[in-house]
Amino acid sequence: MFDYLIVGAGFAGSVLAERLASVQNKKVLLIDRRAHIGGNAYDCHNEHGILIHRYGPHIFHTNSAEIFNYLSRFTEWRQYQHRVRAMVDGRLLPIPINLDTVNELYGLHLTPDGMKEYLASIAEKCEHVRTSEDVVVGSVGRDLYEKFFRGYTRKQWGLDPSELDAQVTARVPVRFNRDDRYFTDTYQAMPARGFTHMFENMLDHPNIKILLNADYREVRDEVSFDQLIFTGPIDEYFDYTFGRLPYRCLEFKHETHHRPVFQPAPVVNYPNEYAYTRVTEFKYLTGQDHPLTSVVYEFPKSEGDPYYPIPRADNAALYKRYQALAANTPGVHFVGRLGTYRYYNMDQVVGQALTVFSRLAQTTRAEALA
Ligand code: FAD
Ligand code: UDP
Repeated sequence: MFDYLIVGAGFAGSVLAERLASVQNKKVLLIDRRAHIGGNAYDCHNEHGILIHRYGPHIFHTNSAEIFNYLSRFTEWRQYQHRVRAMVDGRLLPIPINLDTVNELYGLHLTPDGMKEYLASIAEKCEHVRTSEDVVVGSVGRDLYEKFFRGYTRKQWGLDPSELDAQVTARVPVRFNRDDRYFTDTYQAMPARGFTHMFENMLDHPNIKILLNADYREVRDEVSFDQLIFTGPIDEYFDYTFGRLPYRCLEFKHETHHRPVFQPAPVVNYPNEYAYTRVTEFKYLTGQDHPLTSVVYEFPKSEGDPYYPIPRADNAALYKRYQALAANTPGVHFVGRLGTYRYYNMDQVVGQALTVFSRLAQTTRAEALA
């Protein structure tokens, strides 16, 4: 008899398992249909001994001291500032668009103030910023939008930016200086021995039992439990009763090259060429020293495992119907990127899981983190 059955051993399920077991002494069964813990943040050594992220590049960043300190109980960190280049007009240029991007692309010598004036002169101001096109065209104008954002977004989402909520491209800022870091959060670091090792430490508790290669449907009638935490797709839990929530899928193509370095940046984005969106070279992220190097290509697809909820008004409306159903399903709690249909980063999922834990345990935030 378990107090909790937790479906999904990613960040959402693992944080909840850890808190419920260690703070509340609850007996937890954590299951995942994959063969490993860690969810999409899973990393492992490939056949050459290179640490790779099986489901695409995961870089930890947060502004929350609370979340960073909580995770620091389970890992040491390697400081890491992520950098990305975009292949545009045959050149590798900094993305987010910054002073160097504009100067190199157009052969200009603008100062930061000059860049502000220049972008103000080409940006198309729109009164109500609603879509992902509005965000970019309203800040950098149509040419930069078409070169850096339109093609990438169409590839990544199978939709034009004008069909996606503003929040999608608003993730990528514009900078009027030469800062070429992808993120500017206070805490930016990679778990020193990898994400999976961090998850192992998190779940190393006598109250937590783990069952892998096990789908919820196979397990639900075989074990007895009091409460259920579900971090898989919410529409799947309810047998698609209102229809399917759209998710964007990815196919990952991993390659190892017999040379120490493959490309000049950790990630290279290809907004306008090829069927893939970006190429990641893992050794930059992990700091590993190795004579060979491994990379991953990401090919967006409409069918396959769900990776990204698709932020658009009609999908949000459909999700709300499932959310209302969830609110009327006692003893079942939905958490995580797929469970709550939110385009969340890892730190946001950790924060959400800690909030759910406070609610379940009826404790304050400080007590939840004790
Ligand atoms: P998941 O990690 O998806 O875990 C859910 C788990 O539930 C899965 O392991 C799944 O197998 C299991 N499951 C689902 N249904 C069932 C079922 N019926 N029975 C049993 N098990 C089930 N975030 C960042 O902060 N930085 C990044 O750089 C970053 N890069 C990303 C790159 C890519 C390509 C992707 C797809 C995401 C990225 N993210 C990044 C987001 C990050 O992956 C998520 O925020 C986080 O991993 C979500 O955790 P989760 O527990 O909600 O979901
Ligand atoms: N984007 C783009 N061009 C880029 C980088 C990002 O058009 O060079 C858009 C695209 O729609 C992408 C979104 O901005 O899906 C968010 O980018 P981010 O790098 O945050 O995506 P993620 O890492 O979540 O896949």
